[in-house]
Amino acid sequence: MFALGLGIGALAASLVFVGVSGRLSRSLRRLRDAHQDAAGRADAAEADRSAREAILSSLEDAIVLFSPQGRVVYRNAVSSELLGGGLDGLAGLASTALRRLVASASDGGPVPLLEVLLGPTGRIVQASASRIPDGHVLLVLRDVTGARVGEAVRRDFVANASHELKTPVASIQALAETLLSAASADPAAVPRFAEQLERESVRLSRVVGDLLDLSRLESGAGERERIRLDRLVEEEAERLHPRSEEAGLTVVLQTKDPVPIHGSARDVRLLIRNLMENAIQYSRPGGTIEIAVRADDREAVVTVADTGVGIPTRDRDRIFERFYRVDRARSRETGGTGLGLSIVKHVVENHGGNVTVESELGRGSTFTVRFPPRDAPSRPMEEKDIGILPR
Ligand code: ADP
Repeated sequence: MFALGLGIGALAASLVFVGVSGRLSRSLRRLRDAHQDAAGRADAAEADRSAREAILSSLEDAIVLFSPQGRVVYRNAVSSELLGGGLDGLAGLASTALRRLVASASDGGPVPLLEVLLGPTGRIVQASASRIPDGHVLLVLRDVTGARVGEAVRRDFVANASHELKTPVASIQALAETLLSAASADPAAVPRFAEQLERESVRLSRVVGDLLDLSRLESGAGERERIRLDRLVEEEAERLHPRSEEAGLTVVLQTKDPVPIHGSARDVRLLIRNLMENAIQYSRPGGTIEIAVRADDREAVVTVADTGVGIPTRDRDRIFERFYRVDRARSRETGGTGLGLSIVKHVVENHGGNVTVESELGRGSTFTVRFPPRDAPSRPMEEKDIGILPR
């Protein structure tokens, strides 16, 4: 009985122990879970914060959050580029227009979309401000400088191109009328007017041709293949031989070894032709034009050197701009369109190369065009999604 009692006591004791230890371990588990929850919540909050930070700092727009008292409580990295890194409050905003915009949003006033020129950086930004329910004001700035400059360049180009086209068109119109009346009143003068008419229409078609080339080149490079730079130069020099001879110029060609490059034959021909035509056009009779083609493992180089009028230092950076001419009257007189060198620049850049000029006024100019070697990719490789390859 005693043994039984003892046995029951031991069983009861062990049951009690099991009960107590079960409670204890449950409590411990709860405690651990609670602790893990708290740590998890802290982790989640941290993850949330860094995700938000990553998103905000990767935005192209500048974002600044002002407290109701005008203190900066948040700003992303882009805002430092546009507004300076030290901005800590509304008073620190250099632009009056932006200060007014934020103040108006804070007071619940009108918040128009503004376009503001930021003085210190020269950037043009589109600014919007909005008040959030707790009284904070969010200022968002979008940099639109590139777009505005692009628009101005396009506007300029259209104005220039229209002007360049208008001049020959007006001459053609006037000459056609003169020709019509000369046909009955002064038949002897007809061939002279007809010649003038032809000259003007050639000029018009040259401007249109150059504009079309330029627009084709701007939309990318032509078909690429392995081409022989030395041969193209020889062929173009041959083609222009009658003109250089007529101008009383000696052309010296220096090509020795084959110079292969990877490029568009059509575009490279255009480049060579434009440089040679200029060398002829801006030289005096008796002058010399030297054209050399050479290559090493780093680059393929063409130089076109003339002993012509030269280019003043102040114009040297600008001659590659569309329609820029040093001497407008002379260029027009000789049939120049003002587009030749910008075509040259586009071709060479489409091929990953560059063009430079050295010149001495009254003594001559040397244009140097450098192309990357044949095997080098002339542009960074484009990324292509090739999907999953079938096994
Ligand atoms: P254009 O049709 O007027 O020749 P380009 O774009 O080819 O237009 O050249 C721009 C300007 O650069 C020319 O008007 C001329 O003033 C100057 N220029 C170009 N090539 C030469 C050169 N070889 N010698 C002197 N001036 C040149």
